[in-house]
Amino acid sequence: MHICLNDKIFRTLSEVVTAENVKAFVIGGWVRDTILKREHADKDIDLVVLGNGIEIARKTAKRINPKIRVSVFKNFGTAMFRCDDFEIEFVGARKESYVRGSRKPAVEDGSLKDDQDRRDFTINAMAVSINKETFGEFIDPFDGISDLKNKIIRTPLDPVRTFSDDPLRMMRAIRFATQLNFTIEEKTYKSITENAERIKIVSKERIITELNKIIMCDRPSTGFILLERSGLLHLIFPELDNLKGVEKKDGKAHKDNFHHSIKVLDNISKHSDNMWLRWAALLHDIAKPVTKKYTPESGWSFHGHEFLGSKMIPDIFRRLKLPLNDRMKYVQKLVDLHLRPIVLSQEEVTDSAVRRLLFEAGDDIDDLMALCEADITSKNEEKKTRHLENFKFVRKKLREIEEKDALRNFQPPVDGTEIIETFGVRPGKEVGIIKTAIREAILDGIIPNEHEAARKLMLVKGKEIGLKPVRKTASH
Ligand code: ATP
Ligand code: MG
Repeated sequence: MHICLNDKIFRTLSEVVTAENVKAFVIGGWVRDTILKREHADKDIDLVVLGNGIEIARKTAKRINPKIRVSVFKNFGTAMFRCDDFEIEFVGARKESYVRGSRKPAVEDGSLKDDQDRRDFTINAMAVSINKETFGEFIDPFDGISDLKNKIIRTPLDPVRTFSDDPLRMMRAIRFATQLNFTIEEKTYKSITENAERIKIVSKERIITELNKIIMCDRPSTGFILLERSGLLHLIFPELDNLKGVEKKDGKAHKDNFHHSIKVLDNISKHSDNMWLRWAALLHDIAKPVTKKYTPESGWSFHGHEFLGSKMIPDIFRRLKLPLNDRMKYVQKLVDLHLRPIVLSQEEVTDSAVRRLLFEAGDDIDDLMALCEADITSKNEEKKTRHLENFKFVRKKLREIEEKDALRNFQPPVDGTEIIETFGVRPGKEVGIIKTAIREAILDGIIPNEHEAARKLMLVKGKEIGLKPVRKTASH
Protein backbone atom coordinates (compact mmCIF):
# COMPACT_ATOMS: atom_id res chain seq x y z
CA MET A 1 0.00 0.00 0.00
CA HIS A 2 1.13 3.53 -0.75
CA ILE A 3 0.16 6.75 0.89
CA CYS A 4 -0.05 9.82 -1.25
CA LEU A 5 2.35 12.41 0.10
CA ASN A 6 1.00 15.36 -1.80
CA ASP A 7 2.59 18.29 -0.11
CA LYS A 8 5.71 19.68 -1.70
CA ILE A 9 7.46 19.54 1.64
CA PHE A 10 7.77 15.75 1.42
CA ARG A 11 9.62 15.95 -1.91
CA THR A 12 12.03 18.41 -0.42
CA LEU A 13 12.55 16.25 2.67
CA SER A 14 13.02 13.22 0.43
CA GLU A 15 15.74 14.93 -1.61
CA VAL A 16 17.61 15.94 1.50
CA VAL A 17 17.60 12.60 3.24
CA THR A 18 18.56 10.85 0.03
CA ALA A 19 21.49 13.22 -0.42
CA GLU A 20 22.48 12.64 3.20
CA ASN A 21 22.16 8.94 2.68
CA VAL A 22 19.93 8.25 5.66
CA LYS A 23 16.54 6.60 5.87
CA ALA A 24 13.59 8.57 7.12
CA PHE A 25 9.88 8.05 7.60
CA VAL A 26 6.82 10.09 8.41
CA ILE A 27 5.22 8.57 11.46
CA GLY A 28 2.47 9.10 14.03
CA GLY A 29 -0.32 11.66 14.01
CA TRP A 30 0.23 12.91 10.48
CA VAL A 31 -0.08 9.43 8.96
CA ARG A 32 -3.11 8.60 11.11
CA ASP A 33 -4.94 11.81 10.28
CA THR A 34 -4.15 11.55 6.56
CA ILE A 35 -5.71 8.10 6.40
CA LEU A 36 -8.66 9.30 8.47
CA LYS A 37 -8.93 12.32 6.18
CA ARG A 38 -8.97 14.35 9.35
CA GLU A 39 -7.96 17.99 9.25
CA HIS A 40 -4.34 18.34 10.29
CA ALA A 41 -5.19 20.65 13.09
CA ASP A 42 -1.65 21.59 13.98
CA LYS A 43 0.15 20.58 10.79
CA ASP A 44 2.68 18.61 12.79
CA ILE A 45 4.84 16.28 10.80
CA ASP A 46 6.83 13.78 12.83
CA LEU A 47 9.81 12.19 11.11
CA VAL A 48 11.81 9.31 12.38
CA VAL A 49 15.34 9.09 11.09
CA LEU A 50 17.63 6.06 11.18
CA GLY A 51 20.58 8.05 12.39
CA ASN A 52 21.16 11.24 14.24
CA GLY A 53 17.82 13.09 14.20
CA ILE A 54 19.25 16.38 15.36
CA GLU A 55 22.00 16.43 12.77
CA ILE A 56 19.61 15.58 9.94
CA ALA A 57 17.19 18.25 11.09
CA ARG A 58 19.97 20.83 10.96
CA LYS A 59 21.16 19.75 7.52
CA THR A 60 17.63 19.63 6.13
CA ALA A 61 16.79 23.06 7.41
CA LYS A 62 19.99 24.45 5.96
CA ARG A 63 19.21 23.08 2.52
CA ILE A 64 15.66 24.39 2.52
CA ASN A 65 16.65 27.81 3.73
CA PRO A 66 19.79 28.68 5.71
CA LYS A 67 17.81 31.22 7.69
CA ILE A 68 15.49 28.64 9.27
CA ARG A 69 15.99 28.35 13.00
CA VAL A 70 16.19 24.84 14.39
CA SER A 71 15.08 24.16 17.96
CA VAL A 72 17.00 21.33 19.52
CA PHE A 73 15.85 19.31 22.51
CA LYS A 74 19.01 17.47 23.36
CA ASN A 75 17.56 15.54 26.28
CA PHE A 76 14.95 13.99 24.06
CA GLY A 77 17.20 13.63 21.02
CA THR A 78 14.76 15.62 18.91
CA ALA A 79 14.91 18.76 16.81
CA MET A 80 12.19 20.83 15.23
CA PHE A 81 11.80 23.61 12.70
CA ARG A 82 9.02 25.42 10.96
CA CYS A 83 8.68 25.52 7.21
CA ASP A 84 5.72 27.08 5.42
CA ASP A 85 2.81 26.20 7.68
CA PHE A 86 4.41 23.03 8.91
CA GLU A 87 6.11 22.15 12.13
CA ILE A 88 8.53 19.38 11.34
CA GLU A 89 9.95 17.31 14.14
CA PHE A 90 12.89 14.95 13.70
CA VAL A 91 13.72 12.15 16.02
CA GLY A 92 16.38 9.50 15.74
CA ALA A 93 14.91 5.99 15.82
CA ARG A 94 15.17 4.84 19.40
CA LYS A 95 15.16 1.74 21.38
CA GLU A 96 13.94 2.82 24.69
CA SER A 97 13.30 1.47 28.05
CA TYR A 98 12.00 3.37 31.00
CA VAL A 99 13.36 2.75 34.42
CA ARG A 100 10.58 1.90 36.84
CA GLY A 101 9.63 4.81 39.06
CA SER A 102 10.89 7.39 36.61
CA ARG A 103 9.84 8.54 33.22
CA LYS A 104 13.35 9.32 32.07
CA PRO A 105 14.12 6.86 29.33
CA ALA A 106 17.43 5.14 28.77
CA VAL A 107 17.88 5.56 25.04
CA GLU A 108 19.93 3.79 22.39
CA ASP A 109 19.87 3.89 18.60
CA GLY A 110 17.39 1.56 17.01
CA SER A 111 15.68 0.45 13.84
CA LEU A 112 12.37 1.72 12.50
CA LYS A 113 10.68 -1.27 14.09
CA ASP A 114 12.28 -0.46 17.46
CA ASP A 115 10.88 3.02 17.18
CA GLN A 116 7.43 1.78 16.25
CA ASP A 117 7.51 -0.60 19.22
CA ARG A 118 7.79 2.30 21.60
CA ARG A 119 4.91 4.29 20.16
CA ASP A 120 1.73 4.52 22.19
CA PHE A 121 -0.91 2.98 19.93
CA THR A 122 -1.07 0.94 16.75
CA ILE A 123 -2.83 3.81 14.98
CA ASN A 124 0.03 6.11 15.98
CA ALA A 125 2.78 3.71 14.95
CA MET A 126 2.10 3.66 11.22
CA ALA A 127 4.91 5.03 9.08
CA VAL A 128 5.37 6.14 5.47
CA SER A 129 8.72 6.11 3.73
CA ILE A 130 10.07 9.32 2.26
CA ASN A 131 13.15 7.63 0.82
CA LYS A 132 13.54 7.93 -2.93
CA GLU A 133 13.28 4.24 -3.86
CA THR A 134 10.35 3.55 -1.57
CA PHE A 135 8.64 6.94 -1.49
CA GLY A 136 5.09 6.61 -0.11
CA GLU A 137 5.49 3.01 1.04
CA PHE A 138 3.32 2.24 4.03
CA ILE A 139 4.92 0.40 6.95
CA ASP A 140 2.45 -0.87 9.49
CA PRO A 141 3.77 -3.78 11.57
CA PHE A 142 0.88 -3.80 14.05
CA ASP A 143 -1.94 -3.54 11.51
CA GLY A 144 -2.88 -0.09 12.72
CA ILE A 145 -4.86 0.39 9.54
CA SER A 146 -7.38 -2.27 10.65
CA ASP A 147 -7.66 -0.67 14.05
CA LEU A 148 -8.23 2.65 12.34
CA LYS A 149 -11.01 1.13 10.25
CA ASN A 150 -12.55 -0.63 13.23
CA LYS A 151 -12.12 2.42 15.43
CA ILE A 152 -9.97 0.72 18.02
CA ILE A 153 -7.28 2.02 20.38
CA ARG A 154 -4.73 -0.70 21.08
CA THR A 155 -1.12 -0.66 22.24
CA PRO A 156 1.47 -2.06 19.82
CA LEU A 157 3.12 -4.23 22.48
CA ASP A 158 1.64 -5.86 25.55
CA PRO A 159 -0.24 -2.98 27.18
CA VAL A 160 1.36 -3.67 30.56
CA ARG A 161 4.74 -2.93 29.01
CA THR A 162 3.57 0.09 27.01
CA PHE A 163 1.82 1.68 29.98
CA SER A 164 4.56 0.86 32.38
CA ASP A 165 7.13 2.55 30.11
CA ASP A 166 5.09 5.74 30.18
CA PRO A 167 1.87 5.80 32.23
CA LEU A 168 0.71 9.01 30.54
CA ARG A 169 -0.25 6.73 27.66
CA MET A 170 -3.24 5.58 29.73
CA MET A 171 -4.62 9.08 29.55
CA ARG A 172 -3.69 9.38 25.91
CA ALA A 173 -5.71 6.22 25.20
CA ILE A 174 -8.74 7.87 26.73
CA ARG A 175 -8.03 11.15 24.99
CA PHE A 176 -7.79 9.52 21.54
CA ALA A 177 -10.89 7.41 22.21
CA THR A 178 -12.80 10.59 23.03
CA GLN A 179 -11.35 12.69 20.21
CA LEU A 180 -11.79 10.09 17.47
CA ASN A 181 -14.82 8.38 18.92
CA PHE A 182 -12.95 5.07 19.11
CA THR A 183 -13.23 2.17 21.54
CA ILE A 184 -10.33 1.09 23.72
CA GLU A 185 -9.60 -2.57 23.06
CA GLU A 186 -10.45 -4.82 26.00
CA LYS A 187 -6.98 -5.91 27.04
CA THR A 188 -5.67 -2.38 26.68
CA TYR A 189 -8.51 -1.02 28.79
CA LYS A 190 -8.12 -3.70 31.44
CA SER A 191 -4.47 -2.83 31.71
CA ILE A 192 -5.38 0.82 32.31
CA THR A 193 -7.65 -0.13 35.18
CA GLU A 194 -4.92 -2.34 36.64
CA ASN A 195 -2.11 0.19 36.27
CA ALA A 196 -3.99 3.40 37.04
CA GLU A 197 -1.91 4.02 40.16
CA ARG A 198 1.18 4.43 38.00
CA ILE A 199 -0.16 7.77 36.76
CA LYS A 200 1.30 9.17 39.98
CA ILE A 201 4.82 9.22 38.54
CA VAL A 202 3.75 11.40 35.60
CA SER A 203 4.22 15.16 35.84
CA LYS A 204 1.17 17.35 36.40
CA GLU A 205 2.03 19.35 33.29
CA ARG A 206 1.78 16.35 31.00
CA ILE A 207 -1.45 15.22 32.66
CA ILE A 208 -3.19 18.57 32.29
CA THR A 209 -2.27 18.75 28.60
CA GLU A 210 -4.19 15.53 28.00
CA LEU A 211 -7.04 16.54 30.30
CA ASN A 212 -7.46 19.82 28.45
CA LYS A 213 -7.50 17.95 25.15
CA ILE A 214 -10.32 15.77 26.50
CA ILE A 215 -12.19 18.89 27.61
CA MET A 216 -11.83 20.32 24.10
CA CYS A 217 -13.42 17.26 22.43
CA ASP A 218 -16.87 17.44 20.86
CA ARG A 219 -18.27 15.21 23.59
CA PRO A 220 -15.92 15.38 26.57
CA SER A 221 -18.20 13.28 28.82
CA THR A 222 -17.02 10.14 27.01
CA GLY A 223 -13.51 10.80 28.28
CA PHE A 224 -14.59 11.62 31.80
CA ILE A 225 -16.65 8.44 32.05
CA LEU A 226 -13.62 6.42 30.96
CA LEU A 227 -11.39 8.29 33.40
CA GLU A 228 -13.84 7.62 36.22
CA ARG A 229 -14.37 3.93 35.45
CA SER A 230 -10.69 3.21 35.03
CA GLY A 231 -9.86 4.71 38.41
CA LEU A 232 -7.71 7.47 36.90
CA LEU A 233 -10.07 10.30 37.78
CA HIS A 234 -9.89 9.54 41.47
CA LEU A 235 -6.09 9.88 41.27
CA ILE A 236 -5.77 12.97 39.11
CA PHE A 237 -8.85 14.94 40.09
CA PRO A 238 -10.43 13.65 43.31
CA GLU A 239 -12.84 16.59 43.74
CA LEU A 240 -14.57 15.73 40.49
CA ASP A 241 -14.61 12.03 41.28
CA ASN A 242 -16.19 12.92 44.60
CA LEU A 243 -19.28 14.30 42.85
CA LYS A 244 -20.50 10.89 41.81
CA GLY A 245 -23.18 8.93 43.53
CA VAL A 246 -26.75 9.32 44.62
CA GLU A 247 -27.98 9.32 48.19
CA LYS A 248 -31.54 8.56 49.15
CA LYS A 249 -33.43 9.51 52.29
CA ASP A 250 -37.13 9.11 52.97
CA GLY A 251 -37.45 7.99 49.37
CA LYS A 252 -35.97 11.28 48.14
CA ALA A 253 -32.82 11.12 46.04
CA HIS A 254 -30.60 13.91 44.76
CA LYS A 255 -29.13 13.74 41.30
CA ASP A 256 -25.70 12.28 40.51
CA ASN A 257 -23.63 15.43 40.32
CA PHE A 258 -20.75 13.85 38.43
CA HIS A 259 -22.97 12.81 35.56
CA HIS A 260 -24.79 16.11 35.72
CA SER A 261 -21.52 18.08 35.55
CA ILE A 262 -20.16 16.23 32.54
CA LYS A 263 -23.53 16.58 30.81
CA VAL A 264 -23.35 20.33 31.37
CA LEU A 265 -19.84 20.22 29.91
CA ASP A 266 -21.17 18.41 26.83
CA ASN A 267 -23.96 20.95 26.49
CA ILE A 268 -21.64 23.95 26.66
CA SER A 269 -19.25 22.27 24.23
CA LYS A 270 -21.92 22.39 21.54
CA HIS A 271 -21.94 26.17 21.88
CA SER A 272 -18.42 27.20 22.69
CA ASP A 273 -14.77 26.36 22.13
CA ASN A 274 -13.72 28.57 25.00
CA MET A 275 -11.73 26.16 27.15
CA TRP A 276 -12.26 28.23 30.31
CA LEU A 277 -16.00 28.33 29.85
CA ARG A 278 -15.82 24.56 29.53
CA TRP A 279 -13.82 24.43 32.78
CA ALA A 280 -16.47 26.56 34.48
CA ALA A 281 -19.13 24.10 33.32
CA LEU A 282 -17.15 21.17 34.69
CA LEU A 283 -16.57 22.90 38.03
CA HIS A 284 -19.86 24.72 38.57
CA ASP A 285 -21.13 22.23 41.17
CA ILE A 286 -17.76 21.17 42.55
CA ALA A 287 -18.72 22.14 46.13
CA LYS A 288 -21.93 20.14 46.21
CA PRO A 289 -20.51 17.27 48.28
CA VAL A 290 -19.26 19.61 51.00
CA THR A 291 -22.48 21.62 51.20
CA LYS A 292 -24.90 18.71 50.98
CA LYS A 293 -27.63 18.62 53.65
CA TYR A 294 -30.84 16.77 54.16
CA THR A 295 -33.85 17.82 56.19
CA PRO A 296 -37.18 15.98 56.14
CA GLU A 297 -39.00 19.28 55.54
CA SER A 298 -37.09 20.57 52.54
CA GLY A 299 -35.22 17.50 51.29
CA TRP A 300 -31.73 17.82 49.80
CA SER A 301 -29.99 21.15 49.65
CA PHE A 302 -26.56 22.44 48.67
CA HIS A 303 -26.65 25.92 50.14
CA GLY A 304 -23.79 28.16 49.17
CA HIS A 305 -22.18 25.61 46.85
CA GLU A 306 -21.65 28.30 44.21
CA PHE A 307 -19.70 30.51 46.60
CA LEU A 308 -17.72 27.70 48.19
CA GLY A 309 -17.07 26.22 44.74
CA SER A 310 -15.52 29.44 43.54
CA LYS A 311 -13.34 29.43 46.65
CA MET A 312 -12.13 25.89 45.94
CA ILE A 313 -10.92 26.78 42.46
CA PRO A 314 -7.51 28.34 43.28
CA ASP A 315 -6.43 25.16 45.10
CA ILE A 316 -7.66 22.97 42.28
CA PHE A 317 -5.96 25.13 39.65
CA ARG A 318 -2.71 25.18 41.60
CA ARG A 319 -2.63 21.44 42.00
CA LEU A 320 -3.58 20.71 38.40
CA LYS A 321 -1.03 23.29 37.15
CA LEU A 322 -3.66 25.42 35.50
CA PRO A 323 -2.91 29.15 35.26
CA LEU A 324 -3.51 31.24 38.38
CA ASN A 325 -4.38 34.38 36.47
CA ASP A 326 -7.39 36.16 34.99
CA ARG A 327 -8.52 32.89 33.37
CA MET A 328 -8.86 31.38 36.82
CA LYS A 329 -10.71 34.47 38.03
CA TYR A 330 -13.08 34.15 35.09
CA VAL A 331 -13.85 30.53 36.03
CA GLN A 332 -14.33 31.56 39.67
CA LYS A 333 -16.69 34.32 38.67
CA LEU A 334 -18.86 32.09 36.52
CA VAL A 335 -19.05 29.42 39.21
CA ASP A 336 -19.91 32.04 41.82
CA LEU A 337 -22.66 33.59 39.69
CA HIS A 338 -24.12 30.47 38.13
CA LEU A 339 -27.32 30.50 40.16
CA ARG A 340 -28.09 34.17 39.77
CA PRO A 341 -29.88 34.04 36.41
CA ILE A 342 -31.99 31.18 37.78
CA VAL A 343 -33.03 33.34 40.70
CA LEU A 344 -33.85 36.12 38.26
CA SER A 345 -35.98 33.81 36.20
CA GLN A 346 -37.96 32.52 39.15
CA GLU A 347 -38.85 35.63 41.05
CA GLU A 348 -40.55 38.76 40.04
CA VAL A 349 -37.59 40.40 38.34
CA THR A 350 -36.73 43.81 39.64
CA ASP A 351 -34.63 46.12 37.50
CA SER A 352 -32.31 46.48 40.42
CA ALA A 353 -31.52 42.74 40.54
CA VAL A 354 -30.84 42.72 36.82
CA ARG A 355 -28.58 45.76 37.15
CA ARG A 356 -26.60 44.05 39.90
CA LEU A 357 -26.03 40.97 37.83
CA LEU A 358 -24.90 43.05 34.86
CA PHE A 359 -22.58 44.96 37.11
CA GLU A 360 -21.03 41.83 38.60
CA ALA A 361 -20.78 39.73 35.45
CA GLY A 362 -19.56 42.55 33.22
CA ASP A 363 -18.46 41.35 29.82
CA ASP A 364 -18.89 37.72 30.85
CA ILE A 365 -22.66 37.98 31.08
CA ASP A 366 -23.21 36.16 27.76
CA ASP A 367 -20.95 33.30 28.85
CA LEU A 368 -22.81 33.14 32.16
CA MET A 369 -26.15 32.88 30.39
CA ALA A 370 -24.76 30.16 28.11
CA LEU A 371 -23.55 28.27 31.19
CA CYS A 372 -26.98 28.54 32.83
CA GLU A 373 -28.70 27.22 29.75
CA ALA A 374 -26.22 24.34 29.58
CA ASP A 375 -26.99 23.65 33.25
CA ILE A 376 -30.51 22.50 32.34
CA THR A 377 -30.10 18.75 32.11
CA SER A 378 -33.60 17.71 33.01
CA LYS A 379 -34.93 14.82 30.97
CA ASN A 380 -38.41 16.22 31.28
CA GLU A 381 -38.89 18.09 28.01
CA GLU A 382 -41.68 20.25 29.33
CA LYS A 383 -39.57 21.39 32.25
CA LYS A 384 -36.60 22.03 29.98
CA THR A 385 -38.65 24.19 27.63
CA ARG A 386 -40.04 26.13 30.54
CA HIS A 387 -36.57 26.85 31.95
CA LEU A 388 -35.26 27.89 28.55
CA GLU A 389 -38.23 30.22 28.07
CA ASN A 390 -37.49 31.77 31.45
CA PHE A 391 -33.89 32.38 30.46
CA LYS A 392 -35.03 33.98 27.23
CA PHE A 393 -36.97 36.39 29.37
CA VAL A 394 -33.92 37.06 31.56
CA ARG A 395 -31.82 37.72 28.46
CA LYS A 396 -34.43 40.16 27.21
CA LYS A 397 -34.46 41.96 30.55
CA LEU A 398 -30.66 42.11 30.54
CA ARG A 399 -30.68 43.66 27.09
CA GLU A 400 -33.28 46.26 28.02
CA ILE A 401 -31.49 47.35 31.18
CA GLU A 402 -28.11 47.32 29.48
CA GLU A 403 -29.40 49.60 26.72
CA LYS A 404 -30.86 51.94 29.27
CA ASP A 405 -28.14 52.01 31.90
CA ALA A 406 -24.95 50.79 30.20
CA LEU A 407 -23.73 48.90 33.25
CA ARG A 408 -21.81 46.13 31.56
CA ASN A 409 -18.45 47.78 32.07
CA PHE A 410 -19.40 50.03 34.88
CA GLN A 411 -17.22 53.11 35.24
CA PRO A 412 -18.40 55.29 38.09
CA PRO A 413 -19.69 58.61 36.71
CA VAL A 414 -17.90 60.35 39.58
CA ASP A 415 -14.48 58.92 40.28
CA GLY A 416 -12.13 59.03 43.24
CA THR A 417 -10.13 61.95 41.88
CA GLU A 418 -13.20 64.12 41.62
CA ILE A 419 -14.18 63.31 45.19
CA ILE A 420 -10.67 64.07 46.46
CA GLU A 421 -10.51 67.38 44.61
CA THR A 422 -14.00 68.46 45.59
CA PHE A 423 -13.51 67.94 49.30
CA GLY A 424 -9.77 68.46 49.47
CA VAL A 425 -9.27 65.13 51.26
CA ARG A 426 -6.61 62.47 51.03
CA PRO A 427 -7.38 59.16 49.38
CA GLY A 428 -8.95 57.05 52.12
CA LYS A 429 -12.04 55.79 53.83
CA GLU A 430 -14.29 58.77 53.00
CA VAL A 431 -13.64 58.41 49.29
CA GLY A 432 -14.65 54.75 49.50
CA ILE A 433 -17.86 55.54 51.37
CA ILE A 434 -18.96 58.08 48.77
CA LYS A 435 -18.03 55.85 45.84
CA THR A 436 -20.01 52.95 47.27
CA ALA A 437 -23.01 55.17 47.95
CA ILE A 438 -23.03 56.35 44.34
CA ARG A 439 -22.66 52.83 42.94
CA GLU A 440 -25.41 51.44 45.15
CA ALA A 441 -27.77 54.28 44.26
CA ILE A 442 -27.22 53.62 40.57
CA LEU A 443 -27.68 49.86 40.95
CA ASP A 444 -30.84 50.41 42.98
CA GLY A 445 -32.16 52.78 40.32
CA ILE A 446 -32.33 55.71 42.74
CA ILE A 447 -30.22 57.87 40.47
CA PRO A 448 -29.39 57.42 36.77
CA ASN A 449 -25.91 56.36 35.68
CA GLU A 450 -24.97 59.95 34.85
CA HIS A 451 -22.44 62.50 36.04
CA GLU A 452 -24.72 65.30 37.15
CA ALA A 453 -26.89 63.10 39.36
CA ALA A 454 -23.87 61.34 40.79
CA ARG A 455 -22.18 64.64 41.62
CA LYS A 456 -25.25 65.82 43.48
CA LEU A 457 -25.31 62.62 45.51
CA MET A 458 -21.59 63.03 46.21
CA LEU A 459 -22.22 66.43 47.76
CA VAL A 460 -25.09 65.13 49.90
CA LYS A 461 -23.11 62.10 51.08
CA GLY A 462 -20.03 64.22 51.73
CA LYS A 463 -22.06 66.49 53.97
CA GLU A 464 -23.47 63.49 55.82
CA ILE A 465 -20.02 62.36 56.79
CA GLY A 466 -18.83 65.84 57.69
CA LEU A 467 -16.97 66.88 54.56
CA LYS A 468 -17.14 70.35 53.05
CA PRO A 469 -16.35 71.22 49.47
CA VAL A 470 -13.23 73.36 49.18
CA ARG A 471 -13.41 76.54 47.17
CA LYS A 472 -11.00 76.64 44.33
CA THR A 473 -8.71 79.60 44.79
CA ALA A 474 -7.70 81.40 41.67
CA SER A 475 -4.07 80.85 40.95
CA HIS A 476 -1.80 83.76 40.26
P1 ATP B 1 -2.22 15.32 18.17
O1 ATP B 1 -1.05 16.13 17.71
O2 ATP B 1 -3.45 15.47 17.40
O3 ATP B 1 -2.43 15.43 19.62
P2 ATP B 1 -0.47 13.13 17.69
O4 ATP B 1 -0.68 11.67 17.42
O5 ATP B 1 0.32 13.88 16.68
O6 ATP B 1 -1.87 13.77 17.93
P3 ATP B 1 1.49 13.96 19.56
O7 ATP B 1 1.37 14.09 21.04
O8 ATP B 1 1.74 15.15 18.74
O9 ATP B 1 0.16 13.22 19.10
O10 ATP B 1 2.60 12.87 19.30
C1 ATP B 1 3.08 12.55 18.01
C2 ATP B 1 3.37 11.07 17.91
O11 ATP B 1 4.37 10.71 18.83
C3 ATP B 1 2.19 10.16 18.24
O12 ATP B 1 1.39 9.91 17.11
C4 ATP B 1 2.87 8.94 18.78
O13 ATP B 1 3.32 8.11 17.73
C5 ATP B 1 4.08 9.48 19.46
N1 ATP B 1 3.86 9.75 20.90
C6 ATP B 1 3.55 10.92 21.49
N2 ATP B 1 3.49 10.81 22.81
C7 ATP B 1 3.80 9.55 23.08
C8 ATP B 1 3.92 8.79 24.28
N3 ATP B 1 3.71 9.33 25.47
N4 ATP B 1 4.27 7.50 24.16
C9 ATP B 1 4.50 6.94 22.99
N5 ATP B 1 4.38 7.57 21.83
C10 ATP B 1 4.05 8.86 21.86
MG1 MG C 1 0.92 15.98 16.88
